[in-house]
Amino acid sequence: MRIAIISDVHGNIHALKAVEKRLSEIGVDDVWCLGDTVGYGAFPNQCIDWIRRNCSVVLLGNHELALLGFVDVSLLNDYARKAIEWTKGVITEENLGFLKGLGVQHFTDCCQLVHDTPGSPGSMEYILTKEDAYRALLYQQRNLCFFGHTHIPAAYRLLSSTVDRLNVYSLSVDAGRYMINPGSVGQPRDRDPRAAFGVFDTEFMRFVLYRVEYDTKTAAREILRAGLPDYLAARLILGV
Ligand code: ZN
Repeated sequence: MRIAIISDVHGNIHALKAVEKRLSEIGVDDVWCLGDTVGYGAFPNQCIDWIRRNCSVVLLGNHELALLGFVDVSLLNDYARKAIEWTKGVITEENLGFLKGLGVQHFTDCCQLVHDTPGSPGSMEYILTKEDAYRALLYQQRNLCFFGHTHIPAAYRLLSSTVDRLNVYSLSVDAGRYMINPGSVGQPRDRDPRAAFGVFDTEFMRFVLYRVEYDTKTAAREILRAGLPDYLAARLILGV
């Protein structure tokens, strides 16, 4: 099975549509979504509709937890808080109902899926360094964990008590424990504004990261038109 792994779509339907086009060229059997489908972007309902149609696994991210009232919005940064307030005003009852049925982690035979960290899913902890990854790898409940939340593609391997950072663009899952972050579809923060997503081949245990260009200017213009903070538009152009 070839499974697309997407995360942090953040209401960016323009990025998601570009990913969809690329996925149809690649040919995948399924899509797993690691959460934060809403927040920041101007099209939360359209993105949730797409996720509902295409993904067999969908997790709650911290933005959904805040939207549903499970996380105190005062814990979020200013931009995130404003975006959640805006999203509360436009989200449909049907999509809210769908989100209420989701959880913060999911297990398959080979993988643990979380939005933020496998030791305490839903805690909003960031895994940004090898030290962060080391702690998380000790807690994860499968040899392979997919996570998001940082919006920065990354892969780590724990082998013989040592954590290595791997090339996330192409890697084989072999001996040891692995954590892989497919980056963000809708708000990349690694200074590459292209949408990021991964494809995992469960037969060959191989992961490949893809980047696709999309119309960042239109996505940014729609954010401004919606009355969301200017910075949320600017950061899409810059990829930060
Ligand atoms: Zn996010």
